[in-house]
Amino acid sequence: MESDDDFMSVASSADDFLGTQGSDDESLGDDFGDDFDGGFSKDKDIFSNTRKPYEVDFKVLSPEDIEREQNLQINEVSSILGLPPESSAILLRFGRWNREKLIESYMDHPELTLEEAGLGTNFESTPKTEVVPGFTCDICCEDGDDLETYAMRCGHRFCVDCYRHYLAQKIREEGEAARIQCPGNDCHMIVDSKSLSLLVTDDLKDRYQTLLTRTYVDDKENLKWCPAPNCEYAVDCHVKQRELHRIVPTVQCGCKHYFCFGCTLNDHQPSPCRLVKMWLQKCEDDSETANWISANTKECPKCHSTIEKNGGCNHMTCRKCKHEFCWMCMGLWSEHGTSWYNCNRFEEKSGAEARTEQARSRASLERYLHYYNRYANHEQSAKLDKDLYLKTEKKMTSLQSQSGLSWIEVQFLDTASQALQQCRQTLKWTYAFAYYLARNNLTEIFEDNQKDLEMAVESLSEMFEKPVGELANLKVDILDKTAYCNKRRVILLSDTAENLKNGVWQFNVEW
Ligand SMILES: [Zn+2]
Ligand SMILES: [Zn+2]
Ligand SMILES: [Zn+2]
Ligand SMILES: [Zn+2]
Ligand SMILES: [Zn+2]
Ligand SMILES: [Zn+2]
Repeated sequence: MESDDDFMSVASSADDFLGTQGSDDESLGDDFGDDFDGGFSKDKDIFSNTRKPYEVDFKVLSPEDIEREQNLQINEVSSILGLPPESSAILLRFGRWNREKLIESYMDHPELTLEEAGLGTNFESTPKTEVVPGFTCDICCEDGDDLETYAMRCGHRFCVDCYRHYLAQKIREEGEAARIQCPGNDCHMIVDSKSLSLLVTDDLKDRYQTLLTRTYVDDKENLKWCPAPNCEYAVDCHVKQRELHRIVPTVQCGCKHYFCFGCTLNDHQPSPCRLVKMWLQKCEDDSETANWISANTKECPKCHSTIEKNGGCNHMTCRKCKHEFCWMCMGLWSEHGTSWYNCNRFEEKSGAEARTEQARSRASLERYLHYYNRYANHEQSAKLDKDLYLKTEKKMTSLQSQSGLSWIEVQFLDTASQALQQCRQTLKWTYAFAYYLARNNLTEIFEDNQKDLEMAVESLSEMFEKPVGELANLKVDILDKTAYCNKRRVILLSDTAENLKNGVWQFNVEW
């Protein structure tokens, strides 16, 4: 985790934030998860005191946790309704795990509820296969004397081979589990897990269980799968879709992947999901216009020789004439890192003064390009910083064998690299956010925070690009700058999240 424990004070309002989320009385009718979370929140209190304004409560669930959770709810409903667990499971899946509504509906109309869920009203004990004299299977027309057959409570009987074949087809080919119906014509009875266990092979049972777990997570609003490739974890978070105007719920999976619980895209704080969607759409639509910007070579503004960027840092020095300039705005570097720093701010003047349609559209394009440029540049720089780290890591390994540095002692570079990635990710989204902000005094504060974070990041990034030989001596400096970057990020995100929560941001679009 980040080493910013000493900046917890900015999170002073974590408690009233919790208050906003917890008391959703009006929705109790349609959200089952609200009053019953199967113990998900047991250890919530351990963390809630240290939570920052932009952080949300969440819990990571392994496949075993999900299954355990599922069974807990099934057994509970089973004991309340006095129905066998496998039937309660069908009821719960039918009712999309809306426990309260289900119990209510069952109490009012037990037979109708069972009927609709695809269950009969007659609950026999253990299902078993039978040899029925004189039976002919309707599917394969076999009628042998020792033919094993099976029927659920609906009485539609088929030979075991046909039944098995049918279930294998449903589970393996069609990926169905929770709502497989009886093979009988027009019969809506759901095949329960006991019948299924009796009939199918073990590998299919595993697949069936996996599919059931899928539907459990898919059916619950408070659960989402981690979008990282091949990750089997799910995250439990109680932020609702309608709260996404006021919260950007970033969660971190057990696999370390940070993602937004609202839209499952990569972490995009401080921008709310809706704005992210609009921004990405705009970038896609305008990609032709914007593409030439993010090229990796530019000309020195003084002597016009070609300069290539190979690290994330924006401080460029021309090899030929030694002119120092900013990669982003092509302005003098000497003004960056001082109170003159104005690289992140867009001067709106030209737009207001534009008289003709053409001048206006030019001004609006310039405005977009200002934000897009910086957005794309941080994305690109994060990649370059990472490449640089990987190269450096290799060199450090060899340096390690030559010098006295231990593996632990070179870890500060990894910490710095991670801080750079994370801060640039944040900075990137501050530009999408700023693009949609209407100008007022809050915007100025936001831009100051953005500027401070950007200056901190550029300064760390610059140090990061020093020759490997110098890095060992810069350890203390790099550690300091890393901590400072993390601190600036916490301040920016806390401030933005507070304002979003309080609904005080003004935007130039409806969303
Ligand atoms: Zn058959
Ligand atoms: Zn049937
Ligand atoms: Zn994951
Ligand atoms: Zn999102
Ligand atoms: Zn030059
Ligand atoms: Zn600049």
